[in-house]
Amino acid sequence: MGALWGSVFLQADESFPATRDDTVMAVGDQAYLDLDVFWGCYGLAAEWITPGKRPSFTCAWTQIEMEVDSREISYNGQRVFMGSEVIATETGWAIDRIDAEKVLAPLLSPSIYRATAREVKTIVLDAGHGGKDGGTANAGRKLKEKTFTIDVVKRIGGILSQQGYNVVYTRRDDTYLSLAERALVGKEAGADFFVSRHFNAAGKKTVKGVGDLCDDALASAIHLQSRSALE
Ligand SMILES: [Zn+2]
Repeated sequence: MGALWGSVFLQADESFPATRDDTVMAVGDQAYLDLDVFWGCYGLAAEWITPGKRPSFTCAWTQIEMEVDSREISYNGQRVFMGSEVIATETGWAIDRIDAEKVLAPLLSPSIYRATAREVKTIVLDAGHGGKDGGTANAGRKLKEKTFTIDVVKRIGGILSQQGYNVVYTRRDDTYLSLAERALVGKEAGADFFVSRHFNAAGKKTVKGVGDLCDDALASAIHLQSRSALE
């Protein structure tokens, strides 16, 4: 992990913009942050890759590329997807406040999040799909995603239990659960960490890798670890 965090060094100052209402603008029912204000807190310099379309933000250790009207950003060469698109505003561009708080800030200042992180004791493992919901399928080989998710989740659970974690499963057999029911298991267990296991399918054999939907710095770190484990 040391090398991983070596690539990011920045500390947000005390007036992190996502906590200041005067920098937030309402667009529809979403709250957006002006990107210039946001980057200013981290000391990143802005320049255009494509004028009016692709801004880039850099310092010695970090390079972030964004695109107006896109959720996809490049963070030190790695593809990261935000929840909402970058939008153009009258004065520049803006990002959703939740993306600023939950996606970008943990990437840019992980030390802040590590300092406040609680110890992980209870991990809820969620095997995607189940029962009537088979997930994606390999029709030719009659394989369903739900079979692989439960298999992998049980293996991961065994390893984590051995390491002393309190492991809770959303399902242990071929049962259908709604998303709300899965979330409730996590809530009732007092989960410190919730991992939902899925497998994606693609038409091309060249497509491979790990994709994570994550909502905080720890999940981002685990994604980077799983990626480097694959490479
Ligand atoms: Zn799935």
